[in-house]
Amino acid sequence: MKILVPVKRVVDSNVRIRVKDDGSGIDTENARMSMNPFDDIAVEEAVKQKEAGVASEVVAVTCGVEKSQDVLRTAMAMGADRAILVKTDAPLTPLVVAKMLKVVVDREAPGLVILGKQATDDDASQTGPMLAALMDAPQATAVSKLVVADGKATATRETDDGSQTVQLQLPAVVTADLRLNQPRFVTLPKMMKARKKTIEVTTPEELGVSVSTKLQVLKVAPPSPRASVVMLPDAAALVDRLKNEAKVI
Ligand code: AMP
Repeated sequence: MKILVPVKRVVDSNVRIRVKDDGSGIDTENARMSMNPFDDIAVEEAVKQKEAGVASEVVAVTCGVEKSQDVLRTAMAMGADRAILVKTDAPLTPLVVAKMLKVVVDREAPGLVILGKQATDDDASQTGPMLAALMDAPQATAVSKLVVADGKATATRETDDGSQTVQLQLPAVVTADLRLNQPRFVTLPKMMKARKKTIEVTTPEELGVSVSTKLQVLKVAPPSPRASVVMLPDAAALVDRLKNEAKVI
């Protein structure tokens, strides 16, 4: 069985993001970029399934600018066998990405598609469910445990009310929760080896998918600054502040 893992290049979660002066979006030109953290978990899970003999091949795919190859190389350094870049400079919405992934799914015929449950840039959490709908395949979102056997996936989902275990007939779509696994550390020699691998490059046009969208971002604004925090030496100082400075808002 083949596993397809869609991965997204996002601003690294350790860097402070900067909103463009005109409010049209985030400055990604000067920021350190890396693989969406949930996709790291998705790749780890796919590679684990291969190591366990459940999967025979792991294919990573990303849709985005030329530089998105970086995240594909990280996926291959983690253990993905092949990688596909759907190259475009167009801003992408989850539906457009899901449509492109659907064509890749039709071509690759994976038994399982593992995505991140959300991308940390827009927090949309839409691509996996939209892809499953386009594939007319069963889906389990926010999965914290995955067992694949006998043409079925048994997935434990994290919900607000606790956990829920569901069984999906393959081919199926799963989105990875934070608790699914601990992604492996990518060593430099593995990264160097991955740098030499060939990445298959295609385009939305070649896939027959239009990148035009009905969704328009009107404005992006940074969060309002938080009031600064003051460390007090002891409880007496706190009582003094509460008595003399605290206000009812
Ligand atoms: P989102 O719906 O944007 O929160 O993204 C959820 C998941 O969809 C991500 O964790 C990725 O697995 C996948 N995904 C989103 N955008 C892309 C993209 N441009 N290329 C490949 N996979 C993507």
